[in-house]
Amino acid sequence: MALKKWPNGSGTEFSLLLSGSLSDILSAPPIHTYRILCRSKLKSSLLKNTPFLHYENERLFAKIESEVIFLNWKKDVLDVINQLKANPSYKNNIVSWHTISEQKAKTLPFPDDIHPDLSSSLNSRGIKELYTHQQVAYTTAMAGKSFTAVTPTASGKTLCYNLPVLQTILHDQSARALYIFPTKALAQDQKSEMSELIDAAGLPINSYTYDGDTPANIRQKVRKAGNIVITNPDMLHSAILPHHTKWVSLFENLKFIILDELHIYRGVFGSHVANVIRRLKRICRFYGSDPVFICTSATIANPKELGEKLTGNRMELIDNNGAPRGKKHFIFYNPPIVNKQMNIRRSATLEVRKLAGEFLKNKIQTIIFARSRVRVEIILTYLSELVRSQLGPKSIRGYRGGYLPTQRREIEKGLRNGDIYGVVSTNALELGVDIGQLQVCIMTGYPGTIASAWQQAGRAGRRMGESLVIMVASSAPLDQYVIENPQYFFSQSPETARINPDNLIILVDHIKCAAYELSFGTDETFGEMDVQEILEFLTEERVLHQNGDKWYWMNDSFPAHNISLRSASQENVVIIDQTDRSNVKVIGEMDTFSALTLLHDEAIYLHQGIQYQVEYLDWDEKKAFVAKVDVDYFTDANLAVQLRVLEEDKRKETFAAEIAFGDVTVNAMATIFKKIKFETHENIGSGPIHLPEMELHTSAAWLSMNKELSEYELEDLEYGMIGAAHALKAIIPLFAMCDPGDIHTVPQVKAAHNDKPTIFIYDQYPGGIGISDKVYEMMTEIIAETKSMIINCPCESGCPSCIGTDTSTIRAKEITIDLLSKMYDATISQ
Ligand SMILES: [Zn+2]
Repeated sequence: MALKKWPNGSGTEFSLLLSGSLSDILSAPPIHTYRILCRSKLKSSLLKNTPFLHYENERLFAKIESEVIFLNWKKDVLDVINQLKANPSYKNNIVSWHTISEQKAKTLPFPDDIHPDLSSSLNSRGIKELYTHQQVAYTTAMAGKSFTAVTPTASGKTLCYNLPVLQTILHDQSARALYIFPTKALAQDQKSEMSELIDAAGLPINSYTYDGDTPANIRQKVRKAGNIVITNPDMLHSAILPHHTKWVSLFENLKFIILDELHIYRGVFGSHVANVIRRLKRICRFYGSDPVFICTSATIANPKELGEKLTGNRMELIDNNGAPRGKKHFIFYNPPIVNKQMNIRRSATLEVRKLAGEFLKNKIQTIIFARSRVRVEIILTYLSELVRSQLGPKSIRGYRGGYLPTQRREIEKGLRNGDIYGVVSTNALELGVDIGQLQVCIMTGYPGTIASAWQQAGRAGRRMGESLVIMVASSAPLDQYVIENPQYFFSQSPETARINPDNLIILVDHIKCAAYELSFGTDETFGEMDVQEILEFLTEERVLHQNGDKWYWMNDSFPAHNISLRSASQENVVIIDQTDRSNVKVIGEMDTFSALTLLHDEAIYLHQGIQYQVEYLDWDEKKAFVAKVDVDYFTDANLAVQLRVLEEDKRKETFAAEIAFGDVTVNAMATIFKKIKFETHENIGSGPIHLPEMELHTSAAWLSMNKELSEYELEDLEYGMIGAAHALKAIIPLFAMCDPGDIHTVPQVKAAHNDKPTIFIYDQYPGGIGISDKVYEMMTEIIAETKSMIINCPCESGCPSCIGTDTSTIRAKEITIDLLSKMYDATISQ
């Protein structure tokens, strides 16, 4: 407890600002022992004989010379925690309260061989020993072995790569290292951190960032003299690799390649980056270098496998994290239900506003995460009232991509030194940017993956003292599943990051780039991949030409220019709220496939529990214009989906089922929509939908049942399969790290290729990106989780959070659960 301030007031009408937990204050010795901290003699004498402090109705009183006065008392994080536990308006929404115990640091002394300049530089920054994982990282890298280190937020991961890199350069000035960060902002942040380490010891090492902002006049210096070049995958792909002849000294002497935030490289982006690395390694071979890869990753199920798949190198796994941490409380918070039929809950945003206010008005440093830029702005607006009335300007800030670097640096600094109490951020602050450690983290909705949730939670947590993380769920199925299954969340991370570097579309793009960079030999592979057939195809297409035993680039164009590492094949539809014509704003986006049925003209679109009607869908521009409405129905569109199996690649058979994986084509066309009344589910109108058919070639996993299902009436079978398909789609992102829009499901009562009841799960990207492959492997577990999600849903007969509203029978939920049980049994039958 500390007596911090002696504010205004005269006579006995004064206030005293106390900090420390309530129990500390109440059990503290009489206040006169602190009087030396008081500025005014008069007032301190008044306090001299304070006999007691008294707490009532959340207010603190002191009895001073027979007069009782109210003290302004600043609560600390423990007080607010106790308040949450006691206040019914919060308490009843707390679904689970998980405490993570503190952990002491596990350290080892510096390795004997470490360069004296390096150890003195570390000493000068207060680092006297290494955490266990840093020490193992150092010895592994120095032994020339590639590794992936699993490093939670604030565990000192940068030393895992900076140490071996700086050590190597100090012994060999010609040595080079390439640092790859997933974003430009992170790269710039790392540059400043490294410069501090280098400058502190006056080490003779040059490090530079190389990105779109690097001025032309220093680019040459970077290429020739940069010991350490810090960049991002996009820059590597479009600027460094195609111009490798200007980077000879880098490629000839490249000893280390650092891939930070490995878990970001998944799905389409990861599949592209794996191919960029194949090109990078090819160029290194050409110049005679064979660099060691150092990767760091958040906690996911397969860090080693992902590292190996991305780099093509064998990897050691380092996961003996030795960083200390304080005690942490992790609360799952589910807002109350406001619409029983649809199982819609009060908006997570409004709950977050209330919760964040409790901490911020007590000046407890809090970070609030929101899933979109729009939501960040909304929460900021809500909190600005607090800023105006109590905390002062600049005390609560927004943080997201699109802010200027100087702005971001200022906010990061303000957070570190405590001038800024609150920050509302997109996942931009989930990554390694240094903002120090805050006391409270609030997530507006489940961030989409368990790995992300832990990264965000890592923002709260001092090495000493307690911290608090609150995850506030939205009504979305995945949020509801996670919030109701804390044991699932807290057990070993089940999420697997998937990539498919051999996706033909992505692969062909990068073979073009690779051929532009260096001619291909007739016996050459690309990574492990035999690509001679693709080279022949590109020759027929007159992109390459063969001369002797080499293939050469013959096109005029520069291939990397037209290939973006980050874009998926189709754009999303942007949802624009024009309720208030003078304040038209974007409120969300949706993949085109889903938009066919959810954003057609006249559709009722639910966003954060609010009903909107689509006034006009501009398909060519991919814009849906919506306005708020208040109606007693929802819309249900009919999507005619034809899915055909082209080729079966893998198959597992049991007595009662077959599970397979292969190539499919999907044709989808929205036909009509119906208006369905709440509660009664009666059909109160319909209309046609005029949108083009969409076609997709992709990979899929499917489950066909042999005969167990014959006892169902055909109609019931259909209801059950529709419900199961809807629920599966919601659950799969828990197993494969992907967005719900990355996968789709199709139920077929009688599949064309085998006449059996079949549920297909396919990747929503041409050629597939590895998600359905994972579904194939884990079909049994996924079905089990899906079933338990539906059973645990509080609705009576099915809702959008579990089986959807595509069926209009009150038995749908029961039938779906029964069907999933049969499917589960079938996958494990002999
Ligand atoms: Zn439900």
